Amino acid sequence: MSVDAPRSPMVQAENVCKSFGALQVLKGISLQVQHGSVACLIGPSGSGKSTFLRCVNHLEKVNAGRLRVDGELIGYRERGGKLYEMSPRDAAKQRRDIGMVFQHFNLFPHRTVIANVIEAPMLVKGQSRDEAVARAEDLLSKVGLASKADAYPAQLSGGQQQRVAIARALAMEPKLMLFDEPTSALDPELVGDVLAVMRDLAQAGMTMLVVTHEMGFAREVADQLVFMADGKVVERGNPREMLERPQHERTQAFLSKLL
Ligand code: ADP
Ligand code: MG
Repeated sequence: MSVDAPRSPMVQAENVCKSFGALQVLKGISLQVQHGSVACLIGPSGSGKSTFLRCVNHLEKVNAGRLRVDGELIGYRERGGKLYEMSPRDAAKQRRDIGMVFQHFNLFPHRTVIANVIEAPMLVKGQSRDEAVARAEDLLSKVGLASKADAYPAQLSGGQQQRVAIARALAMEPKLMLFDEPTSALDPELVGDVLAVMRDLAQAGMTMLVVTHEMGFAREVADQLVFMADGKVVERGNPREMLERPQHERTQAFLSKLL
């Protein structure tokens, strides 16, 4: 037996299916995201990108297939080949390790920036206020907002709020970060600062699954580009190769509209 047993991928989806009533939204998604790598997920509106991310983060439950994060089945326990729903407590534990950033920042409007960032580490991780504040200050300076610690969200631009949302997610020390169109609600001139923070995070080794249509980011930062349409993965591969020579007609059609 090898001492260096191969490490399981950070995200491993095998034939993941999800329906809402009669509407089948995910029709057998299979993909992997390796530790320390970045995957960008693209595809037309309604193709199931958000639903897939939501399944990874326990916001939806998969109906069939296997979805694993760091080797652990998400939301279920497997015993004797059968799946049993996980207790809410175990699900919450899994969820703590996964950070998510949405299109809309969802900061608490009546709390300062630093209060937003320290809340979860204190409540969920039991960090002392001093410890949480020290770490939050460090994270805020990493996202370029050290001077805004005592501001309220409404006093910040959309791009600054999104960077606070990233700092807030990072404060939980996640092993995986999910981003669902983090820049698509922003004015164009604010997009770059958010992408720069995400690029730094990728360079620091964070595993990231990013729904985005920022193809410059995908080309430069992603290790893998996944094109989804109609609840299926149509094509995945090296971003540069895929952007230059998409193999499938649907990928070609989609990219030609984007670029
Ligand atoms: P994308 O993020 O690629 O635009 P979504 O995952 O948001 O796609 O949505 C895929 C499909 O699933 C859409 O048809 C959407 O209307 C449907 N859908 C998403 N969430 C729900 C829900 N909670 N209930 C019913 N239908 C949903
Ligand atoms: Mg979406």
